[in-house]
Amino acid sequence: MSQEQRFIPHLDEQQIRDIQLEGLQWTLRHATTGSPAYRKKFDDAGLKPGDVQSLDDLVKLPFTSVEDLRDGYPMPLLSVPEEDLVRIHASSGTTGKRKVLVYTQKDVDDWKIMMARCYELAGLSRLDRVQICVGYGLWTAGAGFQLGCEHFGATALPVGPGNLEIQMQLITDMGTTCLCSTASMALLLGEEIEKQGLRDKIKLEKCIFGAEAHTPKMRRRFEDLLGLKHSFDITGMTELYGPGAGLECMAHEGVHYWADMYILEILDPVTHLPVAPGEIGEMVVTTLRKEGAPLVRYRTHDLTRLLPGACSCGVSMPRHDKILGRSDDMIIFRGVNIYPGQIAGVLEKFPDTGSEYQIQLTRTGGRDSMRIRIERAKDVRADNDPGLGKAVSDALHKQLLARAGVEIVDFGSLPRSFGKTKRVIDERDDD
Ligand code: ZN
Repeated sequence: MSQEQRFIPHLDEQQIRDIQLEGLQWTLRHATTGSPAYRKKFDDAGLKPGDVQSLDDLVKLPFTSVEDLRDGYPMPLLSVPEEDLVRIHASSGTTGKRKVLVYTQKDVDDWKIMMARCYELAGLSRLDRVQICVGYGLWTAGAGFQLGCEHFGATALPVGPGNLEIQMQLITDMGTTCLCSTASMALLLGEEIEKQGLRDKIKLEKCIFGAEAHTPKMRRRFEDLLGLKHSFDITGMTELYGPGAGLECMAHEGVHYWADMYILEILDPVTHLPVAPGEIGEMVVTTLRKEGAPLVRYRTHDLTRLLPGACSCGVSMPRHDKILGRSDDMIIFRGVNIYPGQIAGVLEKFPDTGSEYQIQLTRTGGRDSMRIRIERAKDVRADNDPGLGKAVSDALHKQLLARAGVEIVDFGSLPRSFGKTKRVIDERDDD
């Protein structure tokens, strides 16, 4: 980024490490003093805050998990006196109790800064009009996008999700330049704009999208329909303030994350040891200045990998790849960790394949086999199935370091479901 950075600090690696060590030591003291739950956790691990003298000591610390959030309901990980709290957010929690997270004023302010950095990274100016089409209320999404937008100095249009008619009216009448939405909402708006023939009457240039799985094909489609110059994948979770933990930059070479706000570790989901730089693993986060409910080695179960080296955009904050799936979806095949997202990544390079696939694992005579059924793209003829299957199989072998049998099947023949599609059929017996 060549222009002046108002919100994203320019920090070199050593400066980031210094901030991280100081923040880590503060967090451990703060959590030990303020939270009986953390105090017990550290006691059980035989740890005192003073035991952490360098960032290498991070691996000695116990993990925090979603179970800790449930066990501590209604105010898990609370580490400040209650009078210091100014806000409570919660996430939907698919099973059982909601995840509830508490905020002090400083937490809200830090979150505001993180979100403002996202708008800066997306190249917005104070003249931008930002239509926020995500959930308001207890959810963090709407509140986060709006806080950051106003702090950044652009104009927020807090519409919330749904209500297509009002969305369309504001996009045209207010000259909205940036949408904040899920990928499916962006697609819906794009299709409506096409249907109503409004492409020439709107000023949309950018979309910041997140919160749900999307395919690159879906992304290209809404970029086309909305006539966007850029779209940006945003990361974040309620446990870590909310949206705005990181954002893609204009170079679209991964997600810059705010390493002065939290430490990101990438760990093998099975051994819990750090993976080699650049390898895929589970994101584990430790906050550096979060007061209300700090996180110490919180297991997100999201998979990604660090992207080493400097980004061509000039921003010094480190990068990780997009979220490549959930660690719960990991397959161990002949001793190799395989994530469905890796397979999707390979298929993306083959225009003649669709985006639907299914992995079948079997075991005969103690030997595992993997068979992947992949749909042919719509309107592609079956003549070249053997050649296509071979090419995909070779590319998968190179990417996964494991050999899979590939079968190309008709478009539309694999099961589909909204929500989580079951892609893995594991028929191996645990013998
Ligand atoms: Zn960049």
